[in-house]
Amino acid sequence: MIPFNKPYYSGNELSLISEVMETRILTGDTEPIKRCESLLENKYGFKKVYLTNSCTMALEMAAVILEIKAGDEVIIPAYTYVSTANAFALRGAKLVFADSKKDQPNIDEDQLESLITPHTKVIVVMHYAGISCNMNKILEIAKRHNLFVVEDAAQCIDAYYKNTPLGSIGDIGCFSFHETKNIHCGEGGFISINNPGLIRKTEIVRNKGTNRTDFIKGEVNKYEWMGLGFSAIPSSISAAFLLAQLQKIDEVQEKRRAIWELYYQRFSSSAAGAAFKLPVIPADAKANAHLFFLICNDESERNELIEYLKLNGIQAVFHYQSLEISPYYKSRIPRAENAQRLSECLLRLPLYFDLSVKEAGFIADKVLEFYSERLKKNI
Ligand SMILES: *Cc1c(COP(=O)(O)O)cnc(C)c1O
Repeated sequence: MIPFNKPYYSGNELSLISEVMETRILTGDTEPIKRCESLLENKYGFKKVYLTNSCTMALEMAAVILEIKAGDEVIIPAYTYVSTANAFALRGAKLVFADSKKDQPNIDEDQLESLITPHTKVIVVMHYAGISCNMNKILEIAKRHNLFVVEDAAQCIDAYYKNTPLGSIGDIGCFSFHETKNIHCGEGGFISINNPGLIRKTEIVRNKGTNRTDFIKGEVNKYEWMGLGFSAIPSSISAAFLLAQLQKIDEVQEKRRAIWELYYQRFSSSAAGAAFKLPVIPADAKANAHLFFLICNDESERNELIEYLKLNGIQAVFHYQSLEISPYYKSRIPRAENAQRLSECLLRLPLYFDLSVKEAGFIADKVLEFYSERLKKNI
């Protein structure tokens, strides 16, 4: 069976972990944590990076940093991972769901203004598959209504909008290093702070609500409870693992992009490929080959394709269920129709560093074979 995902290993993880073990310093702002953070700041130009235990944690921190409270409204994509919404629901915010574009997962920026009320505080965007949302338009709307912008950039390492890295455009960007992402440390992530006015607050929120960071810098002679916070700093063991991966990111990206291109070329140059929809990457966006998706015409076709691929030893998987109709948040009148359609029709193909070009070619063949048989049978 060709699995949907295989977590990447660079081969240097164990030696970097042994070095950390020898130091006997496993927690706090240790050397491997600082090295990962400065590597990310220097390579991508993020203003301030703090490693976290997960992207979920970074999103929960964002809600506390922005002082979201009961009664505040937060605009959230309906088509996203649970964590994007849960982070703000935890603070008692009222969630206002924004629909996707027609046949593409990112939010439809043209609908945003109709969702804004005097209670709106934040627009949260999620760049699906590392493909940028229309950030110029979204920032312009946010500025006009005096709103914060949080980017759920969980999938976006090494992805760009107009040559600017995703996650460095809004006030806050939240990234994931979960094992399903391009590079990872099992569970991990980071928060990138682009609004300098939020840096001090972030240092308190990530350190259990204390000013321990000031204490370590020698700026105060004791540390105290300053506000709400989390235990967000990962162990140095995770950071050492991550550092081994960050050092190889260019190689990882080159390989992933080659597989993504192979799928895209094969599908867009074949007659059977016209029977389904492909990812659309806007001219001003550079994606990061985080995942390759296609959009089938309806749910039964999508499920038949999953079965067909499975019979051929290929694991392909669907993705999010629209949050608007989730058991926890059941709105009486679901409005996000495009998001719901994606829940039914979107399919992801295997894409990981160890996938060979030959295997990717075989997967593309099988997808095209499924559609040419349907065309022959006139389905
Ligand atoms: C992976 C992912 C998350 C969660 O990341 P964790 O690091 O597992 O918490 C959140 N949002 C999106 C869009 C994701 O893809």
